[in-house]
Amino acid sequence: MPSHPVPYRLRATDRLPETADLVVVGAGIVGCATAFRAARAGLRTVVVDARPRPATLTTAAATGAFRLQFDNAEEVALVREGVELYSDFAVRAGLPGYDVGLRPQGYLFCARDDDGAARQRELVARQHAFGLTDVELLDGDEVRRRFPYVADSVVSGRFRAGDGFIDQVGLAWGYALAASGGPGVERPPGAAEATFVLGQRVSGLRIVGGRIVAVETHDGAIAAPIVVLATGPFLARTAGLAGLDVPIAPTRRQKVIVADAAEVPHDAPMTIDEATGAHWRPALGGAYVLLTEASTARSDAAWSVPTSADYAFRLLDPASADAVAHVAPFWADVWERGVSWVLHAGQYEYTPDHRPIVGPTPVDGLWLNGGWSGHGVMGSGGGSRLLIDAITGGFSGPDWGLRGDGPDGQPFRLDRPMNVGRHDVL
Ligand SMILES: Cc1cc2nc3c(=O)[nH]c(=O)nc-3n(C[C@H](O)[C@H](O)[C@H](O)COP(=O)(O)OP(=O)(O)OC[C@H]3O[C@@H](n4cnc5c(N)ncnc54)[C@H](O)[C@@H]3O)c2cc1C
Repeated sequence: MPSHPVPYRLRATDRLPETADLVVVGAGIVGCATAFRAARAGLRTVVVDARPRPATLTTAAATGAFRLQFDNAEEVALVREGVELYSDFAVRAGLPGYDVGLRPQGYLFCARDDDGAARQRELVARQHAFGLTDVELLDGDEVRRRFPYVADSVVSGRFRAGDGFIDQVGLAWGYALAASGGPGVERPPGAAEATFVLGQRVSGLRIVGGRIVAVETHDGAIAAPIVVLATGPFLARTAGLAGLDVPIAPTRRQKVIVADAAEVPHDAPMTIDEATGAHWRPALGGAYVLLTEASTARSDAAWSVPTSADYAFRLLDPASADAVAHVAPFWADVWERGVSWVLHAGQYEYTPDHRPIVGPTPVDGLWLNGGWSGHGVMGSGGGSRLLIDAITGGFSGPDWGLRGDGPDGQPFRLDRPMNVGRHDVL
């Protein structure tokens, strides 16, 4: 577990502040990152969350992995910006000694048949064409030369060494601590502070003349001209408080935590079976093991997401079609000798095109930062910078058409055409 020598403390209050320059609703990783960027931009920020601690809903369930291996240049740029921040987080966040547990051990996508290999060739060619030139296309023998645990049945792999993992809860807390600016935090000139109000559910959004003026909770209201909704799987519900219809489909995703398995190479990359979507990465003394299926039915947003024992059997029993043993046979040994695990479930919040919603709404002053599906950890740094730049009129990176009818196709705005049927389910 990453540690930090300085006992940083989050500035939280039980008393609802009367006013703020900006209110963030939601203290998952996306809300914390938004607060960090907002406070750095000089906005007096209040973060309100229904739960008693930050980063305890979807963020806690995540695998903590990041990759640039996307199928489009915009998401590559967004995540690249975040990874640059995470790589130098203690300095850039002003938290000397703070460790976000960055482990750039790579992402290895494995194909087990010729069709899969052809798809890999086509995608890597496209990635190279839009500038992601450090993705390597490997034949099966080269995959096994570099990663000897990989099965003979793997015929091709695509690999990027700079992808990897991070402690996502530590990162979320890092954003929150840096934003709240308590003792020991180094704040640049002009930065403001963020105050956290925890255990308070936002139950209303007050709108006057088409403009947001306050958020309401059971205990009262906070007046603010700018409100950002970062409520993860609850985004459609909270945006509904303003009469907005936001297309979010919360979809259960589970993580099998095998805390102790010496067979797992601790320096392995995230290893993905592209035929099934089964994947694992080293974690703790073993691995996190997951399956991301396009066919999982959507559900309602949930405060507590139930797990299902069958899910672990599908992944760990070598007889199952989805077993991780098909790509990494040592998992059959783990199964054979007997192993214990626990399950943790959360929800992806899919948009119809599986891209995030970062931008304005038809209500003046009300902004969204959500719909991150499986990418909210890796996208938090870049997406929040983009949003706060758009709010303040600053410009510290590409704006992707967020501020108008730019040439970029506005890939993250709520009012973009959202094409159904993209296949990047991970
Ligand atoms: C199994 C799994 C694995 C994943 N793996 C990865 C990965 O490897 N890499 C990656 O980048 N992403 C991954 N993700 C996705 C990632 O976890 C999410 O995109 C990210 O955590 C979303 O963060 P968030 O802050 O938007 O949402 P959340 O963490 O869910 O936070 C939302 C917050 O809003 C609060 N809230 C909701 N409604 C209200 C209200 N009315 N009033 C006040 N507060 C409210 C909630 O209490 C909560 O704290 C994974 C997700 C799952 C489920």
